[in-house]
Amino acid sequence: MSEALHQSDSLQAWIPRGLLELSHQHRVPACTLEGLTPVQLHWHEGVLDDVRPLDEDQSSPEQVVLPRFVDAHVHLDKAFTWQDHPNLLGTYEGALKANLVEHQSRSTEVVLSRGERALQQAFGCGLRAVRSHIDSGGPGAESSWEALQVLQRRWRGRLGLQLVALAPLAFWMSAEAESMAERLSTCGGLLGGVLDPSMSGPDVDQQLKALLRLADRHGLAVDLHIDEADHAPAQGVKQLLRALQISPVAVPITCSHASSLALLPQAALQRLGERMMSANLQVIALPLTNAWLLERRSDITPLKRPQAPIRQLQRSGVRVAVAGDNVADPWFPCGDFDPLSLMASAIPLTQLLPWQRLGLAPFTTAAAGVLGLPWDGVLRRGAPADLMAVKGTSWSDVLRRSSSRRVLVQGQWLPSTFATT
Ligand SMILES: [Zn+2]
Repeated sequence: MSEALHQSDSLQAWIPRGLLELSHQHRVPACTLEGLTPVQLHWHEGVLDDVRPLDEDQSSPEQVVLPRFVDAHVHLDKAFTWQDHPNLLGTYEGALKANLVEHQSRSTEVVLSRGERALQQAFGCGLRAVRSHIDSGGPGAESSWEALQVLQRRWRGRLGLQLVALAPLAFWMSAEAESMAERLSTCGGLLGGVLDPSMSGPDVDQQLKALLRLADRHGLAVDLHIDEADHAPAQGVKQLLRALQISPVAVPITCSHASSLALLPQAALQRLGERMMSANLQVIALPLTNAWLLERRSDITPLKRPQAPIRQLQRSGVRVAVAGDNVADPWFPCGDFDPLSLMASAIPLTQLLPWQRLGLAPFTTAAAGVLGLPWDGVLRRGAPADLMAVKGTSWSDVLRRSSSRRVLVQGQWLPSTFATT
């Protein structure tokens, strides 16, 4: 019988203590200095039915196991468009210009093809869910939505796909806003938009309030590209907080990027973090694209690197996830929908320590929380048997060898053809 047909199986592995929950009958297990605990996992019909610590005199595992990850912010509709639409100056303005040209040439087939390629890669690398923004409100919007909704149905049960309508804020006051909200209601989608320093004043306030009212009326969550900038610190988040004071909503609101918050003085940042916490805002940090685009000048290497102030926001109690953002499109020429590669790249930029609970959460439990997924990613009895296994015994092994892993989906190992190359 082939491995894929086994309904029950087990493995021994090192598991981060912060992603492990043991039954009360088990003793508190020993762990390495990096917080890795030797554990035996057993699963049956796609569910973990036994999670127990290994005794110290039992064999030492030769692999590190993590739950399948979540990427809380991607752009499937424009993935892999760099080659035809490069942004050779690497500027924000250049990316937007190339993106708008690319948008004109979209067809359902084209978006379907690159979205499928992206999801194959994401699935094989160990992702279980992604949230993708879709350029909406322009000529390529309808074909992009058709393609992404096909992909959402096609991948259901293997990889969850949340869709966000990334539209100019003015769109949410237009005649099409209501029908878009209805479409989002049918597919569990979110309202989105961009709030950057070029946008302020009474018009934008009205647009923002219209978006919030529409979201609340339909019970739809919101995810905004906000303060993706290296100037005008936190202007967008402050504007959003003011709008929420006037038009409070019950739906979850996510601030993607939040980069310019890092330019606030410490005390002001703390006060803002507390206001964000009170307003129940959550944040998705996107350090790779921020490092690529922001503070770019033609003749200098930037020394200031604005990115979401993750630790400071966490201290205020704000939930923060780290996500990938763009992959091989005008906004970012790199990326590959690989969560371990993202982690290896993001750690030096953010200085998050994966052996600390709050260092690991943005890649795991917080990302699942931002998406409102039923499983937080903690390995416990009754959790899905959805794992990534990397050969090694330390975090250093995981991050250095991140290109090679086995992926378990609902208790079955993916064939090696899915493995990342
Ligand atoms: Zn984005």
